[in-house]
Amino acid sequence: MIEPSVLSPPERLLWAQGVRSPAHIDLEAIAASRGARVIYRQLDGCAARMVASGNKAVISVAFEDNPGRRRFSLGHELAHWICDANRTAFKCANADIGPQNAEAKSVEANANSYASQLLLPDYLVVPWVGVRPVNLDAAQALANDFRASLTASVIKLARLAKAPSVVVCHEQTRLRWFRRNLAFPYDFFVRGQLHQDTAAFDMAFGAASGMSRPKRESADRWFSGPGAYRQVVSSQSVKLPDRTVLSLISLV
Ligand SMILES: [Zn+2]
Repeated sequence: MIEPSVLSPPERLLWAQGVRSPAHIDLEAIAASRGARVIYRQLDGCAARMVASGNKAVISVAFEDNPGRRRFSLGHELAHWICDANRTAFKCANADIGPQNAEAKSVEANANSYASQLLLPDYLVVPWVGVRPVNLDAAQALANDFRASLTASVIKLARLAKAPSVVVCHEQTRLRWFRRNLAFPYDFFVRGQLHQDTAAFDMAFGAASGMSRPKRESADRWFSGPGAYRQVVSSQSVKLPDRTVLSLISLV
């Protein structure tokens, strides 16, 4: 049984709306109950925006984005509407909205953190994870069941994992971003460039696409740090539609 007082504010909101399974999460209904109308349309130069007047708001979400991304954008704007005191207007760029940017102390990061809990609330995700392995296959299943993006789902899975884990996103020649979980050693650093013997390298530079199989390899291929060459990781990578490569790496 869940004690609502221990839930985070976005989880309490879902709980109060009667959300007891992933299918119950209806962000448009939450918006409507808070006086916000949601429209999907073409937006120039931003992924979502919110314009408020008194108790009413209009949230616009870029309709050309994929469904998981649109839901995250809507969760992000709902966070502005529900949480931010000076909420007259927000215009949020693509770079502002994303589950990878939820740790820095800023209004945008707080909105991303709130959106992550609205889409993937711990009180439903923790029992869903159960004894499943922490890998990209599980993250894809989580994304499907919760209608969330793969990126948001893999970050959530890594955060809940007991094994030291990190989610990394690479372009061909550089590391775009990474998110480590609390168990991950503080003196290990993600390498800025992909190692040529990794599946992620083949995806970034070659014709390889789709999702690789989980693979054990030397931690040294991914991290620098004391003793990294002696440690083993399990790694799995997937090529994303924007041609970046997303990898989940766990120390074993
Ligand atoms: Zn924003």
